[in-house]
Amino acid sequence: MRKSDYKVALIVPVYNEHETVETFVKTVFEKLEAEIEHIEIVFIDDGSKDDTVQIIENIQKEYGNISLIKLSRNFGKEAAMSAALDLVQADAIVPIDVDLQDPPELVLDFIKIWREEGVDNVFGIREDRSKDTNTKRVSSEGFYYVFNKLSGRVQIPSNVGDFRLIDRKIIDILKTLKERNRFMKALYAWPGFTSKGVGYMRPERVAGTTKWNYWKLWNFALDGIFAFSSLPLRVWSYLGGFIGVLSLIYMFWNLIKTLVLGNSTPGYTTLICVILFLGAVQLIGIGVLGEYMGRLTEEVKGRPVYVASKITGPLSKQLPKGMSNTSVGISYNEETKK
Ligand code: UDP
Ligand code: MG
Repeated sequence: MRKSDYKVALIVPVYNEHETVETFVKTVFEKLEAEIEHIEIVFIDDGSKDDTVQIIENIQKEYGNISLIKLSRNFGKEAAMSAALDLVQADAIVPIDVDLQDPPELVLDFIKIWREEGVDNVFGIREDRSKDTNTKRVSSEGFYYVFNKLSGRVQIPSNVGDFRLIDRKIIDILKTLKERNRFMKALYAWPGFTSKGVGYMRPERVAGTTKWNYWKLWNFALDGIFAFSSLPLRVWSYLGGFIGVLSLIYMFWNLIKTLVLGNSTPGYTTLICVILFLGAVQLIGIGVLGEYMGRLTEEVKGRPVYVASKITGPLSKQLPKGMSNTSVGISYNEETKK
């Protein structure tokens, strides 16, 4: 066993994952325990409706380094990760999926780069997406292109998910970001510091089914774009100005035409085209306003991002007892009696 003075925590959001949890734990310890001296797994149960929690609690009896943060209902993966970032105390945190689509052995490469090269944000890059459908590949490429064009200073590399290693200093900065709409992929990039990507092949899910569909992905993409760019909001003044100038030119042209050639009645086609076009443009503009308004309302209400109803395992001993407000959520920790 290698001597080390740092502690690494794998944070694993789980939602109805009774088929994958056990395989995940076995694989992780098989591949990592001999290599990393202080490693812990922190599951965040995102309101599973199956017996995921019972399975995790049974596994906890076998291993001393598995903790569970149980959320009081389904809050979504981003909220689940935020809970772990708030509560976990390790020197480095690795968000990882439970379905083994993020190969645990890659964590060793992450740690090597973190320790030896001093990189603070080491992320995995999905190199082979041949298993994904064409629609998914194209839409994902399109998203990264649009996001990076609109977001300005915060750039996210394409084909990078949540799977990465982040150093304590980045985590501490993330804890100061209080927004409710948490698009973690870009939030991880926000604090800056040094970053480096490691390529890997993303395998199929080991068991169970994906929790995503195209509608959810679309809304997720909108969340990301609206959280990191106000360009969609501002573009309407420019478009309005542009159409205004065009209208003025058209007006003068019509005025001169009428003065020179006299008045003629036709104009229905032009009129209806202009009315429909402007109507559509205005509706889109109002729609975009609505997107920001809705999100603004969420932010102003300032509700907690997550509620952790129960914390068990080693983590519970490091946290204050009873109810506590953490940076973006609320946690109940009644497990310190033991
Ligand atoms: N997940 C979650 N809450 C949700 C949906 C998903 O915690 O509301 C977890 C899920 O259990 C898994 C990870 O997020 O560990 C990634 O989900 P999935 O494999 O379905 O996503 P994909 O790999 O298809 O993008
Ligand atoms: Mg998956």
